[in-house]
Amino acid sequence: MPTPNTQRQVARSPRKSTHHLNDWRCTRCDKLLGVCRDGRMHLRFARGHEYLVSLPVVATCRSCGTLNQVTDPAQR
Ligand SMILES: [Zn+2]
Repeated sequence: MPTPNTQRQVARSPRKSTHHLNDWRCTRCDKLLGVCRDGRMHLRFARGHEYLVSLPVVATCRSCGTLNQVTDPAQR
């Protein structure tokens, strides 16, 4: 008898597993600041605010206040 768990495993493709490599994290406290997608940075904030911005990107960490900058999509 098939279960919902089986369907969940099929939906999880191997390509999605590299998703975390594009994370942009705070250089000080390692908090996730955004996710790089196709050369642009996807920023998420509280209450559903989202921004898709072009590089270079400068943002302050909302956890520790450190100024973080990204100029290269491959940089993390
Ligand atoms: Zn931080």
